[in-house]
Amino acid sequence: MSDIMHGIDVLVSEVGPRDGLQSISSIMPTAAKKDWITALAQAGIREIEVGSFVPPKLLPQLADTAEIVQFARTIPHLQVAALVPNARGAENAIAAGAHKITLPLSASETHSLKNLRKTHEQVFEEVAAIVALIKALPADKRPHFEGSLSTAFGCTLEGMVPEAKVVKLGERLMALGCDEVGLADTTGYANPAQVRSMIKSIWAALGKHALTGIHIHNTRGLGLANALAALDMGLTTLDSSLGGLGGCPFAPGASGNIVTEDLVFMLDSMGLKTGIDLAKLLKVRDIVTAAVPDPMYGFTPDAGVPKGYVQGGHGWGLPERKLAAE
Ligand code: ZN
Repeated sequence: MSDIMHGIDVLVSEVGPRDGLQSISSIMPTAAKKDWITALAQAGIREIEVGSFVPPKLLPQLADTAEIVQFARTIPHLQVAALVPNARGAENAIAAGAHKITLPLSASETHSLKNLRKTHEQVFEEVAAIVALIKALPADKRPHFEGSLSTAFGCTLEGMVPEAKVVKLGERLMALGCDEVGLADTTGYANPAQVRSMIKSIWAALGKHALTGIHIHNTRGLGLANALAALDMGLTTLDSSLGGLGGCPFAPGASGNIVTEDLVFMLDSMGLKTGIDLAKLLKVRDIVTAAVPDPMYGFTPDAGVPKGYVQGGHGWGLPERKLAAE
């Protein structure tokens, strides 16, 4: 799906069905997940991380991921992404037909041991095994493989994570054969200056092609500021979740990922094209609200769009943009 950026400036990658659902204890029925994903795609979302191939015992919320991936693949023009904790998960993701698989590597080794029960070296072994799996496939069946540098901006267990360490881990992931690395502020510790500095360092070490996206949490309210910093640097993919579904059990009232609706409003009002219909997107919340009792967040959904607001990446209150060709 190399044409995924066709006609848009920013790819909003929806992670609610994975990150959102894994962070709440309610289990969303499979039928509701399918309705949710369908409605997101109909609103113009082009990439959705639909689940995670972890043992159902660990995350019963995501036990139906294989079925969801198979279903999502039938939706035209949708890039279907899934998280995998290891080579076994990757095998299942490939069998189900995921277009993109992401393996999280915690920059904090303490977090890695807690999250995946693996040291960095053990995770690298899984990465190598996944690359071998992918290479054995015919070229047109190979999923895009991203190594996500999680806890890249700090860790609830280790505290500060040095930037140089994150860069080194990224180098190793690319050397092993990942198509791309991603940055993830798993803990909501990042600030905009840190985001800029990290992107600069990774690009300097690995080249611009190696990093195009970032996964941001809004735990401390800096989510959109961090997204803007990443955008100004030149990243083109931003992860978010509808209604900021999720949250953190250790930060009461804190939403999880940045809120898709607020992100889309910000981008659209700045004159950037996302391909997403904000009015349709806002209605998708009803599906989630009907299926799980957990709170949905978002300022734009609460306040509504400004009076007279016209969607479509035209900019709002900006002088009319001159196209380069003019
Ligand atoms: Zn996350």
